Amino acid sequence: MNKYLEEVLKNTRQKNINESEYLQAVEEVLSSIEPVISEHPEFEKLSLLERMVEPERVIMFRVPWIDDNGRIVVNRGYRIQFSSLIGPYKGGLRFDPSVNLSIMKFLGFEQIFKNALTGLPIGGAKGGSDFNPKGKSDNEIMRFCQSFMTELYRHIGQDVDVPAGDIGVGAREIGYLFGQYKRIKNAYEGGVLTGKGLEYGGSLVRKEATGYGLIYFMREMLKENDNRTLEGKRVTISGAGNVAIYAAEKALQCGAKVYAMSDSNGCIYDEEGINLDTIKKIKEEQRGRIIEYQKYHPKSKYFEHEPGSESPIWKIKTDIALPCATQNELTLESAKHLVENGVVAVGEGANMPCTEEATNYLLKNGVLVAPAKAANAGGVATSAIEMSQNSMRYYMTFEEVDRKLDNIMVNIFNSCKQSANQYNLGNNYVAGANIAAFSKLAKAMVAQGIV
Ligand code: NDP
Repeated sequence: MNKYLEEVLKNTRQKNINESEYLQAVEEVLSSIEPVISEHPEFEKLSLLERMVEPERVIMFRVPWIDDNGRIVVNRGYRIQFSSLIGPYKGGLRFDPSVNLSIMKFLGFEQIFKNALTGLPIGGAKGGSDFNPKGKSDNEIMRFCQSFMTELYRHIGQDVDVPAGDIGVGAREIGYLFGQYKRIKNAYEGGVLTGKGLEYGGSLVRKEATGYGLIYFMREMLKENDNRTLEGKRVTISGAGNVAIYAAEKALQCGAKVYAMSDSNGCIYDEEGINLDTIKKIKEEQRGRIIEYQKYHPKSKYFEHEPGSESPIWKIKTDIALPCATQNELTLESAKHLVENGVVAVGEGANMPCTEEATNYLLKNGVLVAPAKAANAGGVATSAIEMSQNSMRYYMTFEEVDRKLDNIMVNIFNSCKQSANQYNLGNNYVAGANIAAFSKLAKAMVAQGIV
């Protein structure tokens, strides 16, 4: 590795010693931008990488709230305002007990690159809390969201920082957060949060955008490689949340067949093809567990997922694997199973779902990999379209937004392809995505001076 890169990596490791997810994300980017760094010795003089790996601002705060038994509970809130180089900070909020500083920083760091790839004017951020929404009543969720926003509101704004949803934060939570923001500010600033309900400033297609975008990217990647299509392909999708459900919906619309989906307790395999209406009923309406699928489709099989072990879903034979649940869910062991079973492509719907070893193994074995930064950027891109609509006070039709999303995903794929071609990296779109995003950010950083 180039000496400058090595030095930055060493210092980053020392400074963020216990932050394994953050270091993993930084290492992935730095290890793939070597050809660009070698071409631009001036970047070192400008300490460009040192600036890129240090968040502009890290906010950590107390979130006290009262549960249904009258007990005062204290959670920790975060907002990492990583980079405002190319637009207001932008990135989702995650409510999950696993949330910690390292996970927030990895997500914020990746978000900078992802947002740059969309071609839209949005910087990078991430936030959330170690609050666990599972099993909480609607009133508890509301009280938590109100308390969270009572601190967060002073750090955000439609031209400053625009949060959205992520794991554990969907339309219900965004509604409560928006209501509290509006109440404190005494102003309707629609563009301060995205993923809003359609009744009060949300955009059509936002709900579907990440999943649909993933499949649009996959379609382009398959087309580019031997003119393949999704038609008739076997697809397995981990997770059964927002990203997974709408990736499944679009995959089905493209003629693929989805055989398996999962949640953190286990996975469902249905030889007749997963019935997505049943999944939506269980997950979106009832907030239930995926095991309940068997009640409606007794011929399906359920495989339990032991915590901390390899997910059973990756042992199922498939052409296309779409990890859409969480980080590091697809390990080297899983990658080996997928390759043994003849997988053609892996599309990262979740953020950093493949471990570094898994990604390298897949690439070495000729599997096409659609990297998260590029392939799941449809969500944030549509959030930016939501912000534009809020500013214009004008709403687009479903078809208009969907067409824009599709175009953006085609452009993102082309940027990844062009960067990979430029540096003779074949169809390594993982490196292509990192290089394309980094090149854009580096130009913006040089232009803006020492900030
Ligand atoms: P949701 O909360 O809607 O869904 C997450 C799903 O993943 C749930 O079904 C959850 O199951 C499941 N899950 C969590 N951990 C595991 C695990 N270890 N094994 C199997 N399943 C698991 O979140 P989203 O769909 O919004 O987000 C999913 C991923 O996509 C995250 O990485 C997120 O950062 C990323 N992403 C989301 C975007 C969006 O627009 N929402 C945009 C870009 C990226 P359970 O209910 O059991 O917890």
